[in-house]
Amino acid sequence: MLCPFCGHDDSKVVDSRDSGDGIRRRRECLACNRRYTTYERVQTNAVMVIKRDGRREEFHRDKLWASLNKACAKRPLPTGSIDKVADAIEAEVVSLGKAEVPSDAIGELVMERLRDLDRVAYIRFASIYRDFRDIESFKEEIEALLEPRETAPAVPTNQLSFLDDVEVGAPPAKRRRGRPKKAAGDPTA
Ligand SMILES: [Zn+2]
Repeated sequence: MLCPFCGHDDSKVVDSRDSGDGIRRRRECLACNRRYTTYERVQTNAVMVIKRDGRREEFHRDKLWASLNKACAKRPLPTGSIDKVADAIEAEVVSLGKAEVPSDAIGELVMERLRDLDRVAYIRFASIYRDFRDIESFKEEIEALLEPRETAPAVPTNQLSFLDDVEVGAPPAKRRRGRPKKAAGDPTA
């Protein structure tokens, strides 16, 4: 900060007060001893979130934290878990280095973290975020979650052939198809 009178670059603060939207400082130049006032404001490189309807909204960690907290309500999680997840996601969003990030991209980051943290929280969040249009897509999500991750790639083919078999032999009168766990042990069912 250069003194507006003599251009000297050093000063001392003689008074400082919070003006609500920033800090107002009264400074005294160390060279000419004249006084001047500076205002200090927090400057964030705000990331804008592009919502699904196209509107933009500033990214706020608080808001992210609130939705995480809602998803994790009453879950037996160690203290600070939600803060850690919020910090990690915020860091990821910032590290993208973009001025605008689609809300879907942030949603995916949240899903990734919650899947590792707590399955119930994950499902709660997913059910809102993914906005499941039908029970089938919701069920797919749950089933994918219940399958051990290591074996996940092998599952879809088995499931598909099983479902095909069922539909040919016994049309799903009550729409109770898709119970691969029961059927897995009995391929002739
Ligand atoms: Zn000066």
